Amino acid sequence: MHTKIYSPDASQSPEELITTAKSLGIKNVTITEHNDMDFPDKEFIWEFDLQEYSRSIKEWQEFSRSIDGPSVHMGIEIGWQSHLKDRIEQTATALPFDSLLLSIHVFHGVDIYYGGDIALMPRKERNKEYISALARMCREIDNYDIVAHYDYINRYIEDKSSSVFYKDCPEEFDDLFDALISKDKALEINTASIEKQIVKGSSYIMPDPDVIRRYISMGGKLITIGSDAHTTERIGLHFDRTAKYLKSLGVSEIFYYEGRTPISDPEYSKYF
Ligand SMILES: [Zn+2]
Repeated sequence: MHTKIYSPDASQSPEELITTAKSLGIKNVTITEHNDMDFPDKEFIWEFDLQEYSRSIKEWQEFSRSIDGPSVHMGIEIGWQSHLKDRIEQTATALPFDSLLLSIHVFHGVDIYYGGDIALMPRKERNKEYISALARMCREIDNYDIVAHYDYINRYIEDKSSSVFYKDCPEEFDDLFDALISKDKALEINTASIEKQIVKGSSYIMPDPDVIRRYISMGGKLITIGSDAHTTERIGLHFDRTAKYLKSLGVSEIFYYEGRTPISDPEYSKYF
C-alpha cells in the first residue's frame, strides 16, 4: 500500500493506513511506495530519499506497536523501464527491504494512467506486448520478490469486454511464469484491478482463471494478494472474494514477505 508521504497519488497518511488496517483485523501490512526512476511525466516526482524512507518506516512501525496495530513491513514498488537495470539493482540493495515489487507503469514512453495510444490498440496486441515486457523485466532483474499488477495495462481501458486473458498471449505468459518460477519470485493478484473492473461494469471482474491455473500448473506456488490501496477505503478491499476465488482455482497458500522471505499467511484461511 501507498501513503501520501512518499507516493504523490496516495491520499492516506501512514497513521490512517495503520489504524484502518487494525480495525479490519489485518495482521501484516507492507508499505510499497512508488519508486519510478526517470519517469516520462514530470508533473510529479516518483522518487524519494531511501534513507529518509527507512527512518519513516521505523517511526510507523513504532506507531503501530503503540496502538497494538499490524506488523508494518518495508516494501517498495520499483517501476521498470528497459534502460534502468543498473539503477534498479542499486535501489534494491540500498535498504534491508522486507519485499521488493517490480512493476511497469510506462508503456510506449507514456504513463499508462494517461493512456496514449493504448486504448486504440487491439486488446490482444496490447496484452501481448505488456506481458512480454513483464517477462523481459522478470528475467533481466534478479533482485526483487514480486511482480505487481500483471494486468495493469487493462486498468484504464473502458471497454467492458476487455481483460488480460491468458489466451491472448500464451507464449508470453508462459515466458513470464517460467522466469518467476525459476527464480522463486511471486505473482501478485492486485485487488485494485478487481475494483476497477467492477467500477467499469466489466463482464470480467476477477483475474482470468486460465492465468492462475497455468501459473499453478507450471509449478507456481508464490502468490501474494495486494490491495495497492492509496486511500483508506481500499484497504483489504475484495480480499475475501479474492481468497475464495483463488482457493476455488487450487491455490492453497498466500504469502507475505518479511526480510525478503515468503511467509505462508496463516490468515489466508479465514477468508474462505
Ligand atoms: Zn503500481
